[in-house]
Amino acid sequence: MLNRLQSLKKNENLIKFYFNNNYNNLTRYFCTGGSGGGSDIFSTKNSKDAINSTIRSKEDIEEEIKGFQNAPQIKPKIPVDPASLHLSYSIQIAIQKAYDEFMNGKPEEALKRYYWVLSHTPADYAVRIQRATVLESLSRLDDAIIDCNTVIKNSTEGEILSEAFVIKGICLVRKEKYNEAIVAFEKSLLLIHNPKIVDLKREAEMMLYPDTVIVPNHEDDYEFFNGLSSTLMGNAMVKKSPIHGRGIFATRDIEEEELLFEAPSLLSISTNLAKHKYEKHDDEHCNNCHLSLQPVELQNDREISKSKEFPKIEDTLSRMTNLPLGSISGVCCPNCNEAIFCSSECEAQGMARHRLICSGTPSNVHTNFLNKFYHDISKLDDEERTEYLLMLQVFSLQYTTGGNQDEPLRSMQMDQFLKRLVHTEPSKNHTTSYLSRKDMKIYQSIKGIFSNREITQEIYHRVKSIIRLNAVAFPTSRIKILSEKNPMDELGYSFDFQEIPSQQLASILMQGSFFNHSCEPNVFIATPVVNDKSIRFCTRRPIKKGEELFISYLDGEKLTTEKRRTTLKETYSFICNCQACTSRKTIDFLSILD
Ligand SMILES: [Zn+2]
Ligand SMILES: [Zn+2]
Ligand SMILES: [Zn+2]
Repeated sequence: MLNRLQSLKKNENLIKFYFNNNYNNLTRYFCTGGSGGGSDIFSTKNSKDAINSTIRSKEDIEEEIKGFQNAPQIKPKIPVDPASLHLSYSIQIAIQKAYDEFMNGKPEEALKRYYWVLSHTPADYAVRIQRATVLESLSRLDDAIIDCNTVIKNSTEGEILSEAFVIKGICLVRKEKYNEAIVAFEKSLLLIHNPKIVDLKREAEMMLYPDTVIVPNHEDDYEFFNGLSSTLMGNAMVKKSPIHGRGIFATRDIEEEELLFEAPSLLSISTNLAKHKYEKHDDEHCNNCHLSLQPVELQNDREISKSKEFPKIEDTLSRMTNLPLGSISGVCCPNCNEAIFCSSECEAQGMARHRLICSGTPSNVHTNFLNKFYHDISKLDDEERTEYLLMLQVFSLQYTTGGNQDEPLRSMQMDQFLKRLVHTEPSKNHTTSYLSRKDMKIYQSIKGIFSNREITQEIYHRVKSIIRLNAVAFPTSRIKILSEKNPMDELGYSFDFQEIPSQQLASILMQGSFFNHSCEPNVFIATPVVNDKSIRFCTRRPIKKGEELFISYLDGEKLTTEKRRTTLKETYSFICNCQACTSRKTIDFLSILD
């Protein structure tokens, strides 16, 4: 008897459990149906069949009750009133009827039944959620929210709570309270992760910030691009662009030649290194920030250093250039004695990355692969070699300590950034290999250098394509200070500043990667660039608030419209429709489109 009772109780739970499960299905359909609600979204036969097969038949239950009534009279531990069993039976039937009615497009009738059920079992939160859903479908949003809040306040079951938050969120979206809706969806996601709810949250975010993010390819795009915009010194933001995907836009009126923002590159390499002595490290520049180790050269420094005012002069010039005067001794990598860093800060930052590709690393295997890599790229032309050297840097940066070494391109902020850079997808035709024979060799070397890391061919391809589409080249400078005796000046001298070309860098920019191209750009990289940790972007002409900001992806030389468009099409796979390109009528569009 006792056993029987327990089994019946268990089955009651089972019914609820299945109902919840099916209800989950409903929520899922609900989610795909958008925020509109309505009975059509429930018209899935499968979930209805499922519920019919899991709820026991009326006969089964009646038999069970009969069995209970006819059982020998042993006093049960928990007193059971057969009438209450009948009531609970009627409730179950009512719940199913309500469900059927709702499924069959009779939400009003379903609702009446749910009110009856909940008047008897107010603490049945699964049923309360169902009523909230029906209320939402009837646009009785406030009543639905009240039901959800009751559940949120009282239920302790994660699954039910999660659903309550979702329905509340959906109602809030319909009430155009997007902020509160986002919070509700977030709470739901904390309890149960469901991609459909992620979509709902994203939709609410899109409504709240209509033009912040264009192609929300990633769950955290909104946070990422907002974070990125916050580094643009209040002058610009990243948002959807009518040109290509995303772009950078002015957030206020900006004068001509005004500083837009200053930002570091993600990484750079010297193109001189690629051309001449790529196997050796450059001993004239910092391996991390590429600052010349003689950043400021003071003409007549011997004579000036004898001046009484010299400490003052040194201080003034150093402040004006923001650089130390004279030579920097630098710190060498203790393993290879070749890579050199300009400061302890650069040493800390740079060594983490350099260590992985240092030729003086004791491990033979590693060095062999590194040598093999350099050998593989030695026969390539400068441009291609530069790309592969950048690739080595991207991988070394990705795998520095702090990154998750088992999950390449998944962790760190670096990954956040990389995954959003423009890249081409690997060709779908090559199911066995994405890579050419040449790339296959280099791929094996790269894998060897970063041994035990899961660099797949796909990741290799992607990094290569990111570099191809995002790398930029720009010159860096040293500063030469010319001096002239000037008794009228309180320092005894007057000074003039000159830029001396230092080296050309190939870089992957951070913020700068989100500029679109124009052949008549309104933004340029200001000179001098002394290191790649502070690249300054300035306006070329007055900008109006809301205008899109462009740089030119092409070298400064004067090219014909045709040449520019062809180059852009070949290198970046887009056809330039900037002012300069479209104001000329002589272009043969079709020849480019081929
Ligand atoms: Zn440095
Ligand atoms: Zn080293
Ligand atoms: Zn153009």
